[in-house]
Amino acid sequence: MIDLFEKIPILKRIVTLRVFPYLIILPNIFFFYLLLFAGLFGTPVGNRNIIVVFVWILWWAILIAVMVPFGSRIWCTMCPLPAIGEWLQRMTLTRVRPGETIRGFKGKFFGLNKPWPKRFQNIWLQNIGFLILACFSGFLVTRPIVSVIVLGGMIVISTILALIYRMRTFCMYLCPVSGFLGLYAMTAKIALRRKDPEVCKSHRGVECYLGSVKGYPCSWFQNVCTMTRNNYCGLCFECVKNCDAGNIALYWRPFCSDKEIKGYDETWKAFIMLGLAFVYSVNLLGPWGIFKDWVNFTESGKWLGFILLSLAIVLLCVAVLPGIYWLFIYWAKKLSGNKEVSLKNLFIKYSYCLVPFGLLAWIAFSVPLIMINGSYIISVISDPFGWGWNIFGTANFSWKPFFPNWVPYIQIPLLLMGLFYSIKSTYEIGQNIFSDNKQLVRSLIPITIFLGAVTLVFLRLYVG
Ligand code: SF4
Ligand code: SF4
Repeated sequence: MIDLFEKIPILKRIVTLRVFPYLIILPNIFFFYLLLFAGLFGTPVGNRNIIVVFVWILWWAILIAVMVPFGSRIWCTMCPLPAIGEWLQRMTLTRVRPGETIRGFKGKFFGLNKPWPKRFQNIWLQNIGFLILACFSGFLVTRPIVSVIVLGGMIVISTILALIYRMRTFCMYLCPVSGFLGLYAMTAKIALRRKDPEVCKSHRGVECYLGSVKGYPCSWFQNVCTMTRNNYCGLCFECVKNCDAGNIALYWRPFCSDKEIKGYDETWKAFIMLGLAFVYSVNLLGPWGIFKDWVNFTESGKWLGFILLSLAIVLLCVAVLPGIYWLFIYWAKKLSGNKEVSLKNLFIKYSYCLVPFGLLAWIAFSVPLIMINGSYIISVISDPFGWGWNIFGTANFSWKPFFPNWVPYIQIPLLLMGLFYSIKSTYEIGQNIFSDNKQLVRSLIPITIFLGAVTLVFLRLYVG
């Protein structure tokens, strides 16, 4: 692992500037509000309006194919959605207001600062929110006003919650984007971690977590001294500012280094994401016009089809896929011959096999998004609101796929790479579960067959 703070010292100097996150959040906010304006007052034609083209084609592709695998939750560093709420809580952009609002946590916070109810301290609500959004995706990616309602609604909810609950409660437990960012951030090349555990032990102030005069407490309730996964670190770098001992590193590491799925909520997130990658591929890229009609129910009037499709999506993600996976896990346990390993433990731990493959399947899905529909980006930057402007002279650039024949040749290696990382990671996870190598290898046979079958389904969809 390479410590990027050591290799590129200027990086640490930048992230420890008090103005740092706002250097990128503020331009992002400006741009984001421009998108909302376009959604409200621009053309209702989706592929002519910058909010639809930039958010659901460009942002999505960059997020899933570049930001998450290489930058973990770097999007959360610059995300404009919770910025107003956080500013209201802190009542300052860059300064740390001295004081103590919540016992032990440094800094003065405005608002009620209530703790989020314990029974909701998981990602089930994010799973539900994301599934609901997914059912309305056809609506979302074609109607600018729907994007405004969803994104604007997230700003309103995160701001209200910031005034009631502590710090980034919205991001931790409610943001629908957060669940999959956290899950797939486990594969990311970068990771923020403490360097020497002994230094943390001898440093009793835990400023990285509780805050100090130099920085706010961790808004994501993560203690970097004990943090072993990327899932819930929003990369705000407050802990780096707080740590006097300089004991926090930003590591560049191999893909898929975090491998521990911790509960059913995360396991079901993996099912939902893989299921939705399949559903979106069928709906948006497949040759079946009937599904497109059902998805676009407001235009086609096929309400019943939409309801049936939504039910099928939910059923696939929450019951069918988990059920099939359970059968293979049951088989894996039986085949291993190990009686001590619990089915539940194996079910949760091995579900990581869906993470690298799920991420790569989403990246493969995003390839045609850019190569087939990317030309909309070129025309929309000249006429962002669809008002007939021609700022850069590209407004009349007609829709043109870029090298469409290459798409399958990019998708096939991506899916195979996902398969490779999934099998490799499951093998490494299995080493911590089975002490007997033969049992481990036998337990991997059903999982490999399961992953192989899933890969074949996606290959069939993408390549035909
Ligand atoms: S969790 Fe959601 S709202 Fe919070 S910073 Fe990340 S993307 Fe933005
Ligand atoms: S551990 Fe907490 S304070 Fe440190 S970067 Fe992550 S979210 Fe921010």
